[in-house]
Amino acid sequence: MTQEQGGGSRPVVLRNGTVLTMDAAHRVLTGHDVLVVDDRIAAIGVGLEVPAGTEEIDAAGGIVMPGMIDTHRHMWQTVMRGYGADWTLTQYFVWYYLEWGKVFRPEDVHAGNLLGGVEALEAGVTTTVDWSHGLQTVAHADAAADALESLPGRFVLAYGNIQDAPANWTGTPEFRDFVARRGTGGTLGFQLAFDVTGDPAFPEKPAFEVARDLGVPVTTHAGVWGATGDDGIKLMHDNGFMTPETVYVHSATLSPDSYHRIAATGGSVSVSTESEQSAGQGYPPTWALRAHGIPVSLSMDTTVWWSGDLFSAMRSTLGADRSREHLEAHATGDTVTHSSLRAEQVVEWATLGGARALGREADLGSVEVGKKADLVLIRNDHSPVSFPLLNPYGHVAFQAQRGDVHTVLVDGRIVKRDGRLVDVDMAALRRTAEESVDHLRSTLGDEAWEKGMNPDVPETKVLDNPYTYTDFRSDATHRR
Ligand SMILES: [Zn+2]
Repeated sequence: MTQEQGGGSRPVVLRNGTVLTMDAAHRVLTGHDVLVVDDRIAAIGVGLEVPAGTEEIDAAGGIVMPGMIDTHRHMWQTVMRGYGADWTLTQYFVWYYLEWGKVFRPEDVHAGNLLGGVEALEAGVTTTVDWSHGLQTVAHADAAADALESLPGRFVLAYGNIQDAPANWTGTPEFRDFVARRGTGGTLGFQLAFDVTGDPAFPEKPAFEVARDLGVPVTTHAGVWGATGDDGIKLMHDNGFMTPETVYVHSATLSPDSYHRIAATGGSVSVSTESEQSAGQGYPPTWALRAHGIPVSLSMDTTVWWSGDLFSAMRSTLGADRSREHLEAHATGDTVTHSSLRAEQVVEWATLGGARALGREADLGSVEVGKKADLVLIRNDHSPVSFPLLNPYGHVAFQAQRGDVHTVLVDGRIVKRDGRLVDVDMAALRRTAEESVDHLRSTLGDEAWEKGMNPDVPETKVLDNPYTYTDFRSDATHRR
């Protein structure tokens, strides 16, 4: 099954739900049906007549919303679920970038992507950007793409390689061959994923030129304390590499000048609030992005630390933004009487915001006739939290969770029905993940495995940036 071939075998109608359309008027329709024919939303209305043989799904008491879109998730790390729960960003860099990321084989990338992809679909995340920066070889890239293409979700392969300079890995014939074979024009979306250190020699410039030559967007961790910051943004801007398709991840430690440059060039920011809150990229930036009018999408980053669903992203983003607003008001003796960031806004960021970031707002991100049928039904008759349903946006953002995802459709095909994934061999998935963990654990040895949950930080430049292709040290983190 490939994701663009389209169409469930029979039409589907979701009956009598509360529909969060996320259309231009943000209409909320109660007691409405949504009819899906082939890969598209064919009709939205009350008491719809449907073609013979249509599968009926009762959405009464539930919420029908667009499939959620995650614009930044390192899926290859999924088999290490929860391992780094107490890491800082520096410890993550030590473990993955400097010490152990290189022991991941193509089959480990495959196992992580499979598990991460299924995990996303189960939580109603119908489109995920696989920020795949563990692609040390093209064999790893093929493994990543194979896993994504085997799943009935929509995925973007953001190709990266933390073990080598972007100028190197984007410059090889093997990479060009991969792009020609399956990078663009295939079933997967495609981006280039690399970071800009701010080194004034701009060693990342050739990689941007490759992206421009291929016509693919760049996604980049920008505004990450100690690793990437204003220097990198200025280099990108001065060289004409900031475009509307560019997705800036985190963007937490940036000056107003950098936010102006992002806003002026039409790019968007992928906010990973759970990540920013505990890793240390900087304060989750939605309060600043709102002030600068920069489009936002949401992401979960990596399940090596955090949860892999966008309910958590919406919840933590509201919390962080409101927390900041109250704190700043209190500092001046003021009181916030009305929250600036509304539940409705984070639901939009989790859906249409992601579609916009990926240039797919024409066919994804909202429940409208003619759009792709990527849909989520939130309904759980066994949960006392499912009623009363008074504020649907608030319900999605603060009350719902992955266990309440009743039905998921991607491209008109039901991939989760009645709370259970369709055609997923969970035992096989578990076996694959465990085999990968066995390899990693035995390669590290028990001592390094235990130590890795709280690794020592060597006296190296890792505190400046984790990239071994440059010795650049940013002034920003050397103020003392
Ligand atoms: Zn990331």
